[in-house]
Amino acid sequence: MRQFSTFRMSETTHNQISTLPEDMRLRYYEAVCNYGLYGIEPDFQGVEQSIWIPMRDLIDSASDRSRVYSDNGKKGGAPVGNTNRNQSKLNEVINESLDHGYYIDNEMALEFVRCGMDPNWLKPPLSFIEFVANRVEESYKNKSSVEKKKIFVTAIKDWDDLKSEYPKWKNDKEKSMALKEDKQHREKTKPKTCTKCGGELGQYNDELYCRKCQLNCSYYEGTQTWEWSNW
Ligand SMILES: [Zn+2]
Repeated sequence: MRQFSTFRMSETTHNQISTLPEDMRLRYYEAVCNYGLYGIEPDFQGVEQSIWIPMRDLIDSASDRSRVYSDNGKKGGAPVGNTNRNQSKLNEVINESLDHGYYIDNEMALEFVRCGMDPNWLKPPLSFIEFVANRVEESYKNKSSVEKKKIFVTAIKDWDDLKSEYPKWKNDKEKSMALKEDKQHREKTKPKTCTKCGGELGQYNDELYCRKCQLNCSYYEGTQTWEWSNW
C-alpha cells in the first residue's frame, strides 16, 4: 500500500462534504482521509461514486500528485502519470450522462469525447447528452432500459440528424428559459400597492391601475421594470 504522510484537504472539498446530507458526511470524510493518506478508494457505487469522483480529482490536484490506486482489491487499473485532466473531462461526461439517466463507463465516455463533436456540446447546461437523452425518452418510451441505453450511446456517437437538430433545440430551450426568468422577475417585482396613495391596485389585462390617483403601472420588457404613468 502506498502511503502519504500528509495531504491537503481543500476548502472546496470541505464545502462539498458540508452540502451532503448529515448521514453521508462522515463516510465522505473517511473516504477523503483514506484516499488522501493511504490512496485507498472507497467502495462507492452509482450516484455515490459520481459524488466521490470530483472530490478525488480535487485531492489529486490539491496534493499535486498523480492518482495512485491502492492495492485494496479495486479493479480498474491505475492511470499512472498525468491523466488527471483527461480524467476530469471524462468524469464530466460520465456525470452529465448519469444526470440524465444513463450510467456509462470510462471507455464509453472516452468514445464520446473522441467522436469528433465540439467538446462544449458535452458540457451542461443543455448539453448534447441531455438533448439525446430527452429524445430517446420521447421516442422509445416503451423500450427496456438496456435497449434505451444502446440507442442513447449510438445516438451520441453516430446520429448526424440529431447533431443537426441540436443547436436549434438548445437555442429554443435557452429562449424559453430566459422568458421564464423574465416572467418570474416580472411577478416578483410587481407592485402590490399604489405608489402614491398606498391603496390597493386594480388589474386590467397586464396593466395595474389606481382609480383614485388615476395612475397606471405597466411592465417594460426592455428595462425589466414596472413604470408608473398618469391616465
Ligand atoms: Zn393611488
